[in-house]
Amino acid sequence: MCAKTKVYFGSIQQGHDAVFASLGAKMDKIIELLDFSTIEKGDKVAIKMHLGFQDGYQTVPVFFVRHVAKAVKDAGGWPFVTDNPTAVYNAVDRGYTAETCGCPIIPVSGVKDGDIHAIEVGYRNVESLDMGGVMHDADALIDLTHVKGHHCCCYGGAIKNIALGGYAATSRWHKIHGVEHSIPYWNSEKCSPEHAQALVKACPYNGLRYDEEKHRLTIVLPNCRNANCLECLEADKDVGCLEIKPEFFAAFQELMAIATKQVLETFDENKRFFLNYALQITPACDCLGMAQPIVVPEIGVLASRDIVAVEMATLDLIKEAGLIERAIPPYFKHTNPDPAKVLHPFQRLWGLMKNPYMVVEFAEQQGLGTREYKLVEVLSPEKTAKMKPPKHVYERQPSFY
Ligand code: SF4
Repeated sequence: MCAKTKVYFGSIQQGHDAVFASLGAKMDKIIELLDFSTIEKGDKVAIKMHLGFQDGYQTVPVFFVRHVAKAVKDAGGWPFVTDNPTAVYNAVDRGYTAETCGCPIIPVSGVKDGDIHAIEVGYRNVESLDMGGVMHDADALIDLTHVKGHHCCCYGGAIKNIALGGYAATSRWHKIHGVEHSIPYWNSEKCSPEHAQALVKACPYNGLRYDEEKHRLTIVLPNCRNANCLECLEADKDVGCLEIKPEFFAAFQELMAIATKQVLETFDENKRFFLNYALQITPACDCLGMAQPIVVPEIGVLASRDIVAVEMATLDLIKEAGLIERAIPPYFKHTNPDPAKVLHPFQRLWGLMKNPYMVVEFAEQQGLGTREYKLVEVLSPEKTAKMKPPKHVYERQPSFY
């Protein structure tokens, strides 16, 4: 990797109300610069997406999926869209079909999550993970990601799309979501059942659960707003049986970097492409399966051959854009613990200890790329403003009136 990796950027902003200045044109330019020529004739090209669940339609628009699939075919590859079996099965509800995408849609791990490859991980309480067979067998990878917030790591981008979406459900839900519990946080001997119940009551986010029969208090880390909140610690100050540590949240992000590395290593370095759609940025993941308010202004599309660089650039642009204050849902009750501290928008939502930059740091440590990037804006508003607009014509394509 060179010191500063190029990240191509197409802004939603445009210098003219003309097709040449719009995001579709920028997308095609970005694909040209990303250069799919390293895809070989007949390569099976996995376009890994999050196809959403249920009512969660705020994913990568099928319009862009078609652009990518066509470009792969033009390069000689055989593209297919892939995601977990559940999302694939009902993808049609959100507009994704072979016809609309321009290529087949194949479950990442078989019909019932059985097409898997066990890989050794040896990280904390996770010995192995089951990688989806498609991730293992495909020849080239296009990581096509809808950027959004996330309960656990506060930011879901290209790394999360692979780290969780590239694995079978048992690995995703029980192992990666579960690594945080490898770090002790509760002293059962110091805590009476009554005190445990008081702690549960003190949490405004349903972040603590208590099993009286087993006398076990569990932190639901995805729900926990950690340093933005800490109301449980206030309730615990005279007993001191509970801890909320940054390490809980760091462990999840480190395991994401490790899981991503395992997937990426199954592909030739010249056959990995990363596109982040920083559009319709919701506070939580597409896994929620529902529509959510858009909490960050529309940004655009970013792309690179370096997963770390594209994530870093995306995070920086989100930071620059900030939160749309009026769009923050009322169930985020602690969003500004210290106005003097400049927090990333996703930290403001999900808690100071869920730092979105951790995952790129871990990914860099894993050798997946560099955080040093050069943003190359294509068809910038300044540039397109100087271009001569054509006479506006409606219905330029085959017309039916
Ligand atoms: S820090 Fe806040 S959100 Fe987290 S468990 Fe404690 S009370 Fe709940």
